[in-house]
Order: sequence, then structure tokens, then C-alpha cells
Amino acid sequence: MKQNAESLQRLSNVRCFLLDMDGTVNLGNRPLNGASKFFATLSQKGISHIFLTNNSSRTAAEYERKLSSMGLPAGPGSVYTSGDATIEYLKRNNIGPKLFVLGTRSLRKRFEDEGFVMNDTTPSAVILGFDMELTYDRVRTACRLISSGVRYIATHPDLVCPVEEGFIPDAGSIAEMIAAGTNGKRPVIIGKPEPGIITAALDRIGINPEQAAVVGDRLYTDIAAGKRANVLSILVLSGETTLDMLSPDEKNQPQSIIKSEYPDLVFNDIGELADALDGEKSNE
Ligand SMILES: [Mg+2]
Repeated sequence: MKQNAESLQRLSNVRCFLLDMDGTVNLGNRPLNGASKFFATLSQKGISHIFLTNNSSRTAAEYERKLSSMGLPAGPGSVYTSGDATIEYLKRNNIGPKLFVLGTRSLRKRFEDEGFVMNDTTPSAVILGFDMELTYDRVRTACRLISSGVRYIATHPDLVCPVEEGFIPDAGSIAEMIAAGTNGKRPVIIGKPEPGIITAALDRIGINPEQAAVVGDRLYTDIAAGKRANVLSILVLSGETTLDMLSPDEKNQPQSIIKSEYPDLVFNDIGELADALDGEKSNE
């Protein structure tokens, strides 16, 4: 694949990769093609990595266990979720402590561990996460609270989540249902494409934006977040995005990719990204 020379030069300066998970390093419980080669290259070159996921259905510790069980290097502190970024946002803006959380038991426990309390009647905010335990009753309560003016925050905007059998509805799809049920109320978004999740992760590990790169499979979250945080953005075609989607004009497709979502570099998978990193080495 022909790459932009300036972006390849930026790639050679990267000291830390911010990696999306689903569709980038793994699919369900299976590592994707080239994952072991990619991490071997990072370790050889002394480059660090952090997993950055919009998926708020599990905690960072749970993801670290899941990734480790797949043989991927995911020690303590290596995963940062949109749930973690949401907690930071709530604390920074003094929101709480009472919350109504549309989320998994695991997400609710994460909030409780940070001092927030679950409240269905007079919460300071409604938090929408990837609620895989959603019930009609909970949606009805959320709509009532949001309609009455309670602050409404979503951990991330993804419409679907890639899984081994295809795609399942994610938080963004639940937000669409709530919009329909509240005369159009929309949440404040915390995760990708908002740049805050990236800058918070970089602060945590002490890396400058010019020494970092975002790697992901989705244009409207991963790549858009990288662009907005001034971090090198790398698309892998191992998940949601196909090559056709990047050249809509040639294919005569109606939609065009907006500039703020166009990746700096494109690879078929992270194994091919590892080859490019090795290529940089042989050119030195
Ligand atoms: Mg993904």
C-alpha cells in the first residue's frame, strides 16, 4: 500500500502506540492476524503501548485479564477504557455523587468503587454505557430523567460492536432509542472521537502527542480521535473499515470520507504495521 512519506517519518518517532482492541488487536477471544509479530517488534524496539477502548462493558482489569489470556502483553495499567475517562470527567466537573447508570454490573461497580452511588430517582447525571444487561424498565427511567433535564453523558458513541459472528448493538444504538423516546435528547460524549480520552491516557503515561500514534479499525471514532488530539492516526483494515470506504469517489459511492476522519497511514493489519516499523529500522 502506498503511504505518505511524511507520515512514515512520523511513524519512526513513535514511542507509544494507543491501540484500539475490537477489530484491531483481537476479535472476541481471538488475537487478530499479525498481533504476536506486532508486539514482538514493539518489545524489540523498546516502544510502549496502551490499549484504549471505547467499550465500557468491562473494567480495565477485566480487559487486562482477557488480553493476557489471549497471550497479548497487557500488564496492570495497560488498558484505559471510556468508563475510566468518564469517571475522570465526572470528578473534574464535580458531577455526582448520585448517578443513574445504564451499564453492566461491572461498569456500575467501577463507579461505586470510585465513590459514586447508584440512584434511580434524583441522580446528578444519567450515564449511558455499553449496557448488555439493558431492560425496558431501565430505558423508561432513563428517558424520564433525561426528559426532566437531568445531565446526560455517554461513555462512547459507537453504534455497533464487532464480535466473532458479526456486529451487535452498542451504546450509540441505545442512544438512538433514547433520542427517539425523549424528543431528540442527545448525550455529551466522552470516549473516541473526543480527544479527551487520548490526552488523558497520554498524561497518565507521560508521552507527548508527537511521540504517539492511535491505531484503530474505525474512522468515526479511532481515526477522528487521533486527528483531534494531534496524534498520528493509523487505520487497520482488519475490522469495520474496508479499502472501498477510503476511496468513495473512484467507486462512485455517494458518501465521502471527511478530512477529519481520513487516516495518516493505512495497513491491512497490525502485522503489516510491524513490517513498516522494521522497515524504518533497516533504513536507519
Ligand atoms: Mg475497533
